[in-house]
Amino acid sequence: MNFIAIKLRRRPCDAPVPGPHRWNRGRLAATFVLAWSGLAVNASGQAGDPHHDSTSPPIRVYILMGQSNMVGFGRIGPVETEGTLEHLVKTKGERPDLLDDAGDWRVRDDVWCVQVTAGNRRGWLEPGFGARPNLIGPELGFGIAVGDRHHEPVLLIKASQGNRSLGWDILPPGSERFEHGGRIHAGYKDNPSSWTEDDPGTPVDWYAGKQYDDFVTDIRKVLDNLSDHTPAADDHPWEIAGFVWWQGHKDQNPAHASRYESNLVRLIDCLRREFDAPDAPFVLATIAFEGWKLDGPGRTVADAQLAVDGESGRHPAHRGNVKTVEARDHWRDPSVSPTRQSHHYNHNAETYLLVGEALGEAMVALEPPPAKDTRTFIPVPDEPTYHVLEGYDPKWQRQIRDGVELARSFWGSYGPAHVFVVGSEDGKTIPEASRDAFIDRYCRWRTRGTGRTTAECLPHAVERFIDVAERGESEAYLSWVEEFEQPEAELVFINVHQWYHDGDEIPDPVLRGIHEYTHVFQKGFATMPTWMMEGGAVFSEGWVPWVAGRCDHDFMARRMNHLMDRALSVEDPDLTIADMEDIDTAPAKVRKHYRELAYDTGAWAVAFLIHQSPSGSVAAYRDEFHPMITELGWEAALARYLDIEDKAVFYRAFESFLKAPRKTQMAVLREIQP
Ligand SMILES: [Zn+2]
Repeated sequence: MNFIAIKLRRRPCDAPVPGPHRWNRGRLAATFVLAWSGLAVNASGQAGDPHHDSTSPPIRVYILMGQSNMVGFGRIGPVETEGTLEHLVKTKGERPDLLDDAGDWRVRDDVWCVQVTAGNRRGWLEPGFGARPNLIGPELGFGIAVGDRHHEPVLLIKASQGNRSLGWDILPPGSERFEHGGRIHAGYKDNPSSWTEDDPGTPVDWYAGKQYDDFVTDIRKVLDNLSDHTPAADDHPWEIAGFVWWQGHKDQNPAHASRYESNLVRLIDCLRREFDAPDAPFVLATIAFEGWKLDGPGRTVADAQLAVDGESGRHPAHRGNVKTVEARDHWRDPSVSPTRQSHHYNHNAETYLLVGEALGEAMVALEPPPAKDTRTFIPVPDEPTYHVLEGYDPKWQRQIRDGVELARSFWGSYGPAHVFVVGSEDGKTIPEASRDAFIDRYCRWRTRGTGRTTAECLPHAVERFIDVAERGESEAYLSWVEEFEQPEAELVFINVHQWYHDGDEIPDPVLRGIHEYTHVFQKGFATMPTWMMEGGAVFSEGWVPWVAGRCDHDFMARRMNHLMDRALSVEDPDLTIADMEDIDTAPAKVRKHYRELAYDTGAWAVAFLIHQSPSGSVAAYRDEFHPMITELGWEAALARYLDIEDKAVFYRAFESFLKAPRKTQMAVLREIQP
């Protein structure tokens, strides 16, 4: 079908794609999930269930670069030597968090470290990822800081090499020749490093920027072959989370020091473009040889390092995304250090630990606050527990349960859930015995582990279930008990018989069961807007019976047609689903049209969203889109799922869709795939 009129605008192909580069659509390597982070609980709970890749968050990749001090020369032992890690932790008793219960070095099973260029060690982060297994670099403190912060698996790729300058070896692409002290100094790919008009110099087996190129090549080898270097499968999604830089010793000469700031600015830009991570935070630490006594070209280098910080005001584009850590406070004198080798910070492990931690904290400070986990329910193996008022015709419970099971079989099993079916068909007072039995059972469950007594619960329960039923009101809603460590769903259906009409193709109580249980599924993921929540549940009332073979396509089409009538009945043309993102904060004129906007228009918005997705499939909406909501938040998930700029593009396209002829609208419905 030609649908150009409302085709969504695609992202231009050369525009940077933020975030994960690939979404893993298959099953992921179980060992990886189990080993990496507290996802283990979810993973096991979802075993065998095909649509829960929400347990597969992208790996956060941090790239660490520099020269020998990034490679790492902080001594781990011996315990009696001041300035070693063992002395710090075991003799002085500081930093007990670095040890496990047995007194051994704690191994981070959520942070994987890979050395490239210099060194080839890979493994879970622990002391020993320095230049040799008895040394540490900044990766230890950095990895702990970012690992503590993130639930997602963290991968540190350390691409460093000793004795490398930014002004020559690591010179980023695009760097031009410059004149200093009567000599021409190399631009990117030039060789030798400097010359004069009279003396062309002698070419060497190297060129300006070769180390930059080698770093990039070595890093790419890891990212392109994850399974060779990490416990992750090759197609595990990943994202460049940030860059870390600690370098500068070899630039302490007047020529290179004079260019350090501009070279660093270019490096930041080049690395971000190289790895398609335009917004990735960049943190660095100053050089700090001799601490605050640092002077001469070394001081120039440190000043340049501070100058690129986003807060310095010299580079407005760095604001909020480049941060420099002052390392001179972390200098330790030879008198309290294992050696007197000042260019390796006297091999003092505390210096490396503190610089690494400061870099990690700087990184975390630049990162957006983690999306709050707003999931309420979890995947569960069993069907809900039913609580029925004795004496109320069991057929009403059967119809509710039929709907709940239909929804559960399509959307998946979430909860834990309890279903309450209460009613009074003849309008009489509910007999005391069945009333008490129902309320007592409810309150015993409801107060479990809360420290409150069932007696406190009783009046509230009578009011909520019995009084409503006796007044002859009907209610269907989902609520949940947040007091429990794991919230549990309450699906409440009161006076179900009032929804039943003899001629209905599918009894309305069944549809209400579908609707409310769809909400249980939705709340297994992060918060979505009101229109998507209610729209999804209303869409589900037609879709689920159809895919289950309970009705023909006409049943769903008739329902959706009717919903479109009501959607178009909102007289205020300015009101759209964009106003219905959060019913709790919506103004009165929006709330007045809650039903039409959230339910009727929302159901079509969900149908349209599914139709516009790459597969056009409701199963993909369930299996791919919902996990994305948890990982990215619904707005970013919507943009990514439809490959559009932002939600505004979707809203505009949907508005034109609402104006399309009804025939076009109904054709969209027919094209949606299971
Ligand atoms: Zn609802």
